[in-house]
Amino acid sequence: MRYLKAFIAIGVAVAVAVIIIIGRDARREAVFYPFGGIPLKVVAYDRSQAEFDEDMKAVSSRVAKLSSELDRHDSGSEIARINRDASVAPVVLGDDMERILARCYRWYPQSRGAFDPTVVPLIELWEGAGESGELPPDAEVDVARQRVGLGYVAITHDGRIMFAREGMGLDFGAIAKGFIADEVARLLVERGVARGIVDVGGNALAFGEGTFTFGVADPSSTRESQNLMGTVEVERGAVITSGNYERYVTIDGRRFSHIIDPRTGRPVANGLVAATVIGGEGVDADAMATACMVLGKEEAMGLLSSVPEVSAILVEHEGEDWRVWASKALQPRLNLSDNWADKVEWF
Ligand code: AMP
Ligand code: MG
Repeated sequence: MRYLKAFIAIGVAVAVAVIIIIGRDARREAVFYPFGGIPLKVVAYDRSQAEFDEDMKAVSSRVAKLSSELDRHDSGSEIARINRDASVAPVVLGDDMERILARCYRWYPQSRGAFDPTVVPLIELWEGAGESGELPPDAEVDVARQRVGLGYVAITHDGRIMFAREGMGLDFGAIAKGFIADEVARLLVERGVARGIVDVGGNALAFGEGTFTFGVADPSSTRESQNLMGTVEVERGAVITSGNYERYVTIDGRRFSHIIDPRTGRPVANGLVAATVIGGEGVDADAMATACMVLGKEEAMGLLSSVPEVSAILVEHEGEDWRVWASKALQPRLNLSDNWADKVEWF
């Protein structure tokens, strides 16, 4: 169970299932499982076997360190220590923690609070509701909401963190996949890898020259069948999906998303079932994809227009209707399968 929670903690929602790589050069691949069940896949081009083996040793120790910092379900992790102590006294931040928090401080205001890494009390409330099968009373939602808000987190000039309220906590489930992908890619580039892909549970980051083709998971298919809704061509950058069709809790026969709208204190239910953000750094794409899911189609488009270098695919499901909105910039690069192609509108 612990393992399962750790798995969930990293927040992998959707598989961008298949990576199809078009290229002639030597391709090497390795898979790690540093976060319970989530595979971390590394692809590198033009490396000798000996070079690649050394690369993977370095990757392995880097991701072990990241996991020991960012997994809040590991009681010995840095984030767990912060969650335990920062309401009582300031806690010193490590370098990685400082950097991931810096991105949180960017996306929290830019998403108008839709992305909020302090949603822990609400996550726990709704997970508990999923286990008991009963909806939480409004009063409990309100109590949990009082404990949520990045605005109640203070970072001191000397790099320490303090929570302004009792019962607060950090969770990087919405951003860690992208952050880890960026870190691993940076490490590989520093080691001399010119071209490659880092894939954390189906969320990918491509670096180097040339074009990469990624499959985009079909949100109407089951985990087992793992169909694709299409493929997208990318020239470096992230392809990260947030979705609520694979991970949810069932309460009273109704499905509830694992993504919480911090503004209401409730699981999101706005018709969006998947948001894929394409381009830029993994950490930003990951935060943005989750924020889009919270904001819903209209507001998501507003957020996306404030970041012109990224594109996105938004999928909405209402009743029997499926609709897709995709950035105009993707028009020449997105190949949707027949049953999706007639559902797309470009924005
Ligand atoms: P993702 O799959 O990247 O959308 O991340 C989903 C995970 O992020 C959830 O499983 C929670 O751990 C966490 N989370 C849920 N709601 C939010 C939110 N509004 N802002 C930030 N993190 C969230
Ligand atoms: Mg995310």
